[in-house]
Amino acid sequence: MSEQNKMEKIISLCKRRGFVFPSSEIYNGFAAIYDFGPYGVELANNIKRSWWKAMVQLNDDIVGLDSSIFMNPKIWEASGHVFGFSDPLTECKNCHLRLRVDHLLTELNIQADEKMSIDEIDKLFTDNKKKIKCPNCGKNNFTNVKKFNLLVKSNLGNFTEDWNKKPAYLRGETCQGIHVNYKNIINTARVKIPFGIAQIGKAFRNEITARQFIFRTREFEQMEMQYFIHPNDEVEVYEQWREKRWQYYLGLGIKKENLKWHKHENLVFYAKEAYDIEYNFPFGFGEIEGIHARGDYDLSQHTKYSGVDLSYVNLVTKEKFMPHIVETSAGVGRTFLAVLVEAYIEENVGEETRVVLKFNKDLAPIKIAVFPLLKNRPELVKKAKEIYDNLKINYMCEFDDNGNIGKRYRRQDEIGTLYCVTVDFDSLEDKKVTIRDRDTMGQERVKIKELDEYFRKKL
Ligand code: ATP
Repeated sequence: MSEQNKMEKIISLCKRRGFVFPSSEIYNGFAAIYDFGPYGVELANNIKRSWWKAMVQLNDDIVGLDSSIFMNPKIWEASGHVFGFSDPLTECKNCHLRLRVDHLLTELNIQADEKMSIDEIDKLFTDNKKKIKCPNCGKNNFTNVKKFNLLVKSNLGNFTEDWNKKPAYLRGETCQGIHVNYKNIINTARVKIPFGIAQIGKAFRNEITARQFIFRTREFEQMEMQYFIHPNDEVEVYEQWREKRWQYYLGLGIKKENLKWHKHENLVFYAKEAYDIEYNFPFGFGEIEGIHARGDYDLSQHTKYSGVDLSYVNLVTKEKFMPHIVETSAGVGRTFLAVLVEAYIEENVGEETRVVLKFNKDLAPIKIAVFPLLKNRPELVKKAKEIYDNLKINYMCEFDDNGNIGKRYRRQDEIGTLYCVTVDFDSLEDKKVTIRDRDTMGQERVKIKELDEYFRKKL
């Protein structure tokens, strides 16, 4: 299976089985926005739950937060997003496709430095333009490079005609909500430095090139943690978080050889160190999480712009300092896609090819499917319903009586269901059911009254 083929198959499975739908489809869609269907929302929720557990539940020094999407617009000036949060853009003069110039240059192995001015990038682009073709129409006719701000504007709370001059922004990243609540949390949560604040939430960016399915969307969800530390501890803490976050992905069932570190050579001016964790997607390695040592930039900027001193006083030593931040910033959609690609397997079973999503047990959207052997035999349906009603109290389950058993197995394999439980005629006599394991396809007979215990051990 070629890699392009694999991606197409995954996109088609996502649609067919209800993981991901293009947004507003009956209106011809809406570029770079997607909806999660019934199994997609389960998978996304399981990813978020696993992240929350790894970050908040298992770390005594990390607390959670859910800040709002809209914030005082000054926050985005302080953070640098209003002036600096922009990508270099060119447009194909032939088909009007907009393209990220830094991406086009990267394909030629030329790095556009984040510190470069737009004129410098334009010069670099002009010098190399001859070698670049529009990926859509194949022509070589591009506009000059422009900067395009990624913040999404709104007219929230502004009822004048010229709201565009003073817009409220939809947040471009979730961590600013953490930075501006840092003082509230110090004052209420009985935390002492070092400590972290974690949050999961939507972010919005006017991405120019929105390709690669849910890898790059204009509305997406982030899972971000900001760890506040003494400046002297930055290097050590940074390395600890790098290690923890790497292990997290291995824990999700991602193979080591499909992950790699990408070191940012050209750091933004305030950053001390920045690495991304990249996953080996069918279209190449791409970032799933950034781990950045941000120095004291964020709290210093918010101190300056808000006029509220955000420095910290160690009550024992009386030392006063501006905390530094180590950030871990992951995307739900990109983790979702990585987990899907990793789980997608085609196996030969006899004459047939079996498509199966081998999610790990925490991520699988449905843990157990319960079937009556035949739909039209009330005694089988009644028993199966009884078992289903009991299991669904503790596990995400599905009742399925459509088609023959072979078809039901195929469907459950394609959505990654861990176990299928079938009630047949013997079940009515011997009070046992057949349990089929997704990965081994092995089957065993288990007493109905021992099902709770059986799944407690397995799950
Ligand atoms: P890229 O270089 O790919 O545009 P980025 O460096 O701008 O990404 P960050 O600002 O570090 O990304 O955001 C942290 C995480 O948020 C990313 O690792 C990614 O998982 C997620 N993310 C960022 N932008 C998008 C997007 N447009 N669509 C989906 N997820 C995104």
